[in-house]
Amino acid sequence: MAYELLRKGKTIQIFDNNFQGNSSKVAAGIINPVTGRRIVKGWLIDDLIPAARTFYKRIENLLNQKFHHQRNVLRVLFSIKEENLWLEKTGDSLVEKYVIESNDYGLFKNKITEGEALGEVQYSAQIDMPLLLEKSQEFFSNEGMMNVELFDYDQVEIETEKVVYKNIEAEKIIFCEGHQGRKNPWFGDLPFEVAKGEVLFIKIPNADFKKILKHKLFIVPLQNDIYWIGSTYEWDDLDENPTEKEKHSLIKKLDKILTIPYEIVDHKAAIRPSTIDRRPFLGLHPEHNCLGILNGLGTKGASLAPYFVNQFVEFLLEKRPINKEANIDRFKKKD
Ligand SMILES: Cc1cc2nc3c(=O)[nH]c(=O)nc-3n(C[C@H](O)[C@H](O)[C@H](O)COP(=O)(O)OP(=O)(O)OC[C@H]3O[C@@H](n4cnc5c(N)ncnc54)[C@H](O)[C@@H]3O)c2cc1C
Repeated sequence: MAYELLRKGKTIQIFDNNFQGNSSKVAAGIINPVTGRRIVKGWLIDDLIPAARTFYKRIENLLNQKFHHQRNVLRVLFSIKEENLWLEKTGDSLVEKYVIESNDYGLFKNKITEGEALGEVQYSAQIDMPLLLEKSQEFFSNEGMMNVELFDYDQVEIETEKVVYKNIEAEKIIFCEGHQGRKNPWFGDLPFEVAKGEVLFIKIPNADFKKILKHKLFIVPLQNDIYWIGSTYEWDDLDENPTEKEKHSLIKKLDKILTIPYEIVDHKAAIRPSTIDRRPFLGLHPEHNCLGILNGLGTKGASLAPYFVNQFVEFLLEKRPINKEANIDRFKKKD
């Protein structure tokens, strides 16, 4: 949001207390066009993928840092039924662009337990979100636009045409707070349905996996022989603390996948800012139009953010419409 507003010539200030349990710091950043047992195309994916590519490439050029990695997903199929469905999808005009027939485990060969068959997804990618955040914070700090501190709602003074926060006068405040948005006094009543996730970071020396593996868990290459392993879903125990229980469940599954030694180097948890209808929250407050929200990116922030940031900025600056499914107007009480 900050990058796009800046690109469109706006003056901005960012407030972020660099919360360690933020979802983006734990996410794998996978952009996966087809998902689920039924192998269906993700919502708006034909538009999200090109928007993401353009957006991340632009930031890569600005920061002189690569963090958008084009990576195919190897999907292990566990039954003849799954295999048949995959083959069917390779000829289905809706998804055939993304799914390809494959029986090549490549570098995973002899290092993982094989399934009944294999499929491969193309046009998928992985965004190194922690690196993107770290470099962005550096960039905005150097530009004098970064305030690493907790945002204090009590200091917001709403006026008719503007909003004042501490000594800053602004046209708008846009809240992009992830699951912590549930505590926001103006938007906290929106129907979030957040989900905690736990992940492991492991080291496998010299495996050199380049593709993403979707087995019973995802195995995602990061840098320096480190791989992201995840993840779990939990809807009740909602803090950001990693638990021994989920660690053991991840290890148990991983031991059934990997047939080579590995070392656990980290274990993290975070809360996904999901929503009741699995669609984002975009829009302005119904009474105070100097306050806005961009949230509810759920399990798909890496692909949804670029497209919806563009859309929200065009709405703010050019009064273009917001997708009805994402506009918070959908929760307006009807008289
Ligand atoms: C285990 C796991 C795996 C995931 N894997 C993927 C994946 O592979 N692909 C994908 O696309 N998505 C994935 N996600 C989802 C992804 O993390 C989210 O969609 C996305 O990161 C949400 O970004 P956000 O900026 O809205 O929220 P966050 O990343 O949580 O950021 C919110 C920010 O707001 C700041 N903040 C909040 N309140 C305040 C305040 N009062 N004052 C100051 N600062 C404040 C926080 O410090 C934080 O930096 C995963 C999530 C989890 C937990």
